[in-house]
Amino acid sequence: MLTPIEGRAALVTGGTKGIGRGIALAFARNGAKVMVTGRDPAAGAACAAELVAAGASDAAFVAADTASRDDCVRAADATAARFGGIDIVVANAGIYPESMIESMPEDELRRMIDVNLTGTIMSVQACLPHVRRSDHGRVVVISSITGPIVGMEANAHYAASKAGQLGFVRSAALEFAPMGITVNAVLPGNVATEGLDELGREYQQAMLSAIPQGRLGAPDDVAGAVLFLVSDEASFITGQSIIVDGGQVLPEGPLRGNALR
Ligand code: NAP
Repeated sequence: MLTPIEGRAALVTGGTKGIGRGIALAFARNGAKVMVTGRDPAAGAACAAELVAAGASDAAFVAADTASRDDCVRAADATAARFGGIDIVVANAGIYPESMIESMPEDELRRMIDVNLTGTIMSVQACLPHVRRSDHGRVVVISSITGPIVGMEANAHYAASKAGQLGFVRSAALEFAPMGITVNAVLPGNVATEGLDELGREYQQAMLSAIPQGRLGAPDDVAGAVLFLVSDEASFITGQSIIVDGGQVLPEGPLRGNALR
């Protein structure tokens, strides 16, 4: 049983849908105060109501594009003003449009890096003045197996953004250690979310056949790892990564499964 995080103040970027929403709900069920960001106000309002119903001591949504420094600062300041500080930052907001390198549009490449990598750094930067005042400062970055561990066709820009996040995590962990703040990453495999739905059925079937546990992940699977990393029990862990992928990165080749049974 982990020490409760009840009453702690958390900001989850991109917390209105998918993995971010799963993490926000897990925080809410544990009695934390939870702020979620995103660009869609309707999804934000619905999510904030869900968080309160799930048990959050307080919950709200602030519209913010993580690729905008002004938005990152506004979201961090709004969270600190409402909750009296920030203890936990989860940099989760991310996008994953697919393009082969040969035909990758420049605007898609730049947006990918702006949202996934620059956005992660700016979100954490904006929260730092608040988190450094916490006695339980925690930063968790939602990266991916794609980039840090494996490559994927049509995802070179995404993989680069996700591998870049790990360079940031390790360096931030060093800078923030004297402040008592830990910085870690979670590397999900394929998780059933609104975003994954957009990649289509064929993509999901291909991924499913590569996962030894035989199922896509759920946002709750990722939330479990995040809950551990923000706990008091994880206070001596920093600059590290946890892979949450049902074993997807393990096989040497195609799964042989039933052929061996
Ligand atoms: P999702 O279902 O598309 O949800 C993305 C969330 O981020 C939404 O709340 C979205 O809200 C928000 N968002 C998107 N762009 C944003 C921006 N510029 N500023 C602020 N918020 C933004 O995505 P997901 O599958 O949950 O992925 C979440 C994270 O997990 C990403 O970093 C992704 O790379 C990572 N990940 C996902 C998987 C997977 O299989 N699903 C695997 C590995 C890693 P709005 O649309 O309203 O802005």
